[in-house]
Amino acid sequence: MPCDVCHGTRWTPEVRDGVERLVRCDCWRAEMAERHLLEARIPQRYSRCELSTFEHDTDSQRDAFRRASTFVQQFPSVDRGLLLYGPNGVGKTHLAVGILKAVMRTRGARGFFFETRELLKLVRDTYNRSVAETEMDVLGPVLKADVLVLDDLGAERTSDWVQETLGLVVNTRYNERRPTIFTSNLVDSPDSTEPRSFIYQLGSRTRSRLAEMCDWVEMHGVDMREVGPHASADAVQRWQRSSPASPDNLRKATTTSPRPKGQARATLPAGAATELRWPGGRAGNDR
Ligand SMILES: [Zn+2]
Repeated sequence: MPCDVCHGTRWTPEVRDGVERLVRCDCWRAEMAERHLLEARIPQRYSRCELSTFEHDTDSQRDAFRRASTFVQQFPSVDRGLLLYGPNGVGKTHLAVGILKAVMRTRGARGFFFETRELLKLVRDTYNRSVAETEMDVLGPVLKADVLVLDDLGAERTSDWVQETLGLVVNTRYNERRPTIFTSNLVDSPDSTEPRSFIYQLGSRTRSRLAEMCDWVEMHGVDMREVGPHASADAVQRWQRSSPASPDNLRKATTTSPRPKGQARATLPAGAATELRWPGGRAGNDR
């Protein structure tokens, strides 16, 4: 159906200071945004993730949703991104994809979604001589995107190379003031020997960069993958009582294993939760 405003020409007259001229019609902008979204590398399985379909059952999910909405409203006048962290199944990736789509549709931003592990694999593949792409062919869009989602930070086993490559992405985006939305199920532990901590996985320099460039938003919730979507209140209660991953049981687990004495907590960024309420992702359940 041709557009009612421009009848398919994609241009529409606009009068400014008494002078009429042609400007791009809104339908053109919408079409460009949809085209850019197709190129944004959002995996098919997240195609239905929107801000409007994000389920917020817990206080931390409601808080995360508010921050996501604020980010979208203020874009591009935002100087910080978001780091959404917490256990599996609380909606971190859903929210990140919702933000990405919203800024692309309503703000005309160019953006990309990369799963961290996939990005590292693409970069690694360029070292293979049979691949014509260079490292910078892969990293260019990642470094230059108006907004970038880097999903599941810390899922890749760490190494000097992993830390350097991710450090390059984080630093470049930080220096050029391009906001990034990270998701991660790492924990913000001050213990640099804790394998699931940001410091251990990314190195302390990148960990501090992340603190400077992002608002850290800790998310807890009902694991939708365990109780299923639109679960009844009864089902949620049963889950909270029985699952080792429920906030109640995690709290118990944390309080029964005291923190080693004499260890200072790392400085948490503004807005980050000050209590570590969960011990990290469950083994064997990355997805
Ligand atoms: Zn039109």
